[in-house]
Amino acid sequence: MNKYKKWQYKLLAREMVNILNKKGYESYYAENLDNAKEIVINMIPKSSTVAVGGSETLNDMGLIDEFRNGNYNFFDRYQNLPFSDIVEIYRQSMLADFFVSSVNAITKNGELVSIDSTGNRVASMIFGPKKVIIVAGVNKVVDNLDEAYKRLKKIAPMNALRNGHNTPCIKTGKCMNCEIQASVCNFIGIINNGRKFPGRINIILIADEVGF
Ligand code: SF4
Repeated sequence: MNKYKKWQYKLLAREMVNILNKKGYESYYAENLDNAKEIVINMIPKSSTVAVGGSETLNDMGLIDEFRNGNYNFFDRYQNLPFSDIVEIYRQSMLADFFVSSVNAITKNGELVSIDSTGNRVASMIFGPKKVIIVAGVNKVVDNLDEAYKRLKKIAPMNALRNGHNTPCIKTGKCMNCEIQASVCNFIGIINNGRKFPGRINIILIADEVGF
């Protein structure tokens, strides 16, 4: 990465860590993906039950393979199973010790904004798992909720394509405001702050562009 761009990302990541800590989350700075992965692994005791939200960021970090390595009780949502069985894994995941995910946008006011097809990720971030670990690159930081919504709509077609959903946006690359069951935009969640359950929501901000 260009060193001036990296310099700007580092400053933004540090600024956001302060903002997020003031909003009641536990927030951490990570220099890059490897550093973020190390922080995540150090936070999760071996033998814990672990679930994940669908995320390109977690794939990029190699975290799915890490959770499959036998040291954890992993609710593996990526098995080749009928959808009804995957939904059951989502339901079990709601009681995991740790839920690890990314997020679609983080505002400069410390709001976390996500968009989901089935709602399992949005729901688990808000309530259920004992601890939530969110990993995000600073490319997900936006000024406000209006900008967050625009960002959601920009990245949703990529998520539809990645997850093999047959939606109008996979033909055009842009949101066509569909109203179909296969939509990846059925649920939008906003977390305003992390104050209700201190220490529950942990956010690792990576000074880099990661995921969509
Ligand atoms: S609303 Fe429909 S068309 Fe628009 S991004 Fe979501 S899935 Fe694609």
